[in-house]
Formats: sequence, C-alpha cells, structure tokens
Amino acid sequence: MPKPLKKTDSGNETILKRIVKTLALKLIDYYPDFKPRTRHDPLDELILTILSQNTNDNNSDQAFIRLKTRYPKWDQVARAKSGNIEDLISVAGLGNTKTRYILSVLKEIGDENLAHNRLKKGSPYHLDHVKKMNLENALEYLTGFKGVGQKTAACVLAFSCMMPAFPVDTHIHRILIRQGIIPEKMGAGDAHEVMYRITEPDDRYRFHINLIRYGREICHARNPECGRCVIRKTCVYIEKVVTQ
Ligand code: SF4
Repeated sequence: MPKPLKKTDSGNETILKRIVKTLALKLIDYYPDFKPRTRHDPLDELILTILSQNTNDNNSDQAFIRLKTRYPKWDQVARAKSGNIEDLISVAGLGNTKTRYILSVLKEIGDENLAHNRLKKGSPYHLDHVKKMNLENALEYLTGFKGVGQKTAACVLAFSCMMPAFPVDTHIHRILIRQGIIPEKMGAGDAHEVMYRITEPDDRYRFHINLIRYGREICHARNPECGRCVIRKTCVYIEKVVTQ
C-alpha cells in the first residue's frame, strides 16, 4: 500500500495523476462495450489466479475446470495427493510449484478459519472474512500467504470482493513504462504502490480491464500499433522511436 509521500514527490505525482486520469477516460471512450469480469467466490478467484501465473487465461481456465471437476470442494483438494493435483493442473505449467502454493494456501486458510470457528456450510475453506476488511488490511492479509503477491491479492479483491484494488499484470506493466508513468526498471510489484497513489479508487476496476485489453489488442509487447494508438500523445516510447 502507499507509503507516505515525500515532499519532493508531490509535483510529479500531481502530473501523473492527471496523466492516468486522461488515459482512463480515453480508454473508456475507446472501449464503450466494456464488460465486467465474471465474479467468482474469493477462494475460487485466489486459486484461479495462482493457476494463471506465467500462463494465459485459456490454460489457467482449463486447469481450474479440471481441478474443480475432479474435486468440486476445496476440502477435497486439501486432502488430495499432490501428484493428483499436479496432473490435473499441468496444462497451466509450473505444476509442482502451483500445487505447493495451492495446498499451502488451503492449509493456512483452513487452519485459521477452524481456529476462529469461521465455517461456511460446515467448511473452513473460504475467504468470506476478507470481504469485511479494508483494502489495506485485505492486501496485507492475502500477500501473507506463500505464492500470493500483490497482483494475485489485488485480483481477488478487485474481481471477487469489489474492492478498489489494482492488479498490475504484464500488459499493464508494459504500458505504464511506455507511458512514462513508472521507470523502466521498476518491477510490477512496486508498480502497484505507485498506482494506488495516483489512481482514483472508482476508476481502478475499469481502467485495469481496459488497459489489459489495450495491451493485447494495440500496445503489443512486440510491434505495438502506434499508428492507431489513442494514447500516443503521452507515450514516451514512441517519442524515443521517432527521435532515434
Ligand atoms: S504509442 Fe505505441 S507504444 Fe505508445 S502506448 Fe501507444 S501503442 Fe503503445
């Protein structure tokens, strides 16, 4: 979450706030057919997001469906053999690591809910208590689990709990660098902090979804389509290319 501002940051920050507001509005115009994401249960979203790390949506969706078809309840996954889980989710890659993260997250959540007597339909495998937290506490709580970074935590809070979280994925990270909003060397993890400081909470959900779509459709990693870009006025990347 945002650190206290340094005095010297304030001028720069005001400019960045203005730029991201302009970007958010331009993308709202560009994507009038905006559709919110399907809303999942928070624990489902957490596992789905772990599965989505370092792969595409198709593969992670397939892995999630295979896992839930074989084990419809998280209680069953928590008791399953790790080799069985790994086989089911292998399509999403990093099967061994993701299996470890999933089992470790389930164990921690299950143990903690049992200790607090927080059962949902008799099961300790849920994250309903997170919905009652504020954004800062919820981010801190979720990132406390092994394998859960800022992006994964923000996905759960933004998409399942409707909190003003802002996940920075690879597309958003690339566009933020090209727009000069974050330095080239800043990782996606640190970029979250910047975005919480310079975006308005009410803008975050739609801005996040529109930026990802823009990264996929226009501002590709290779050969971005700068000629038809609606945010090129503020783009530092195109300035560099043109002046070279
Ligand atoms: S001008 Fe090109 S590099 Fe810059 S944001 Fe647009 S598509 Fe991306």
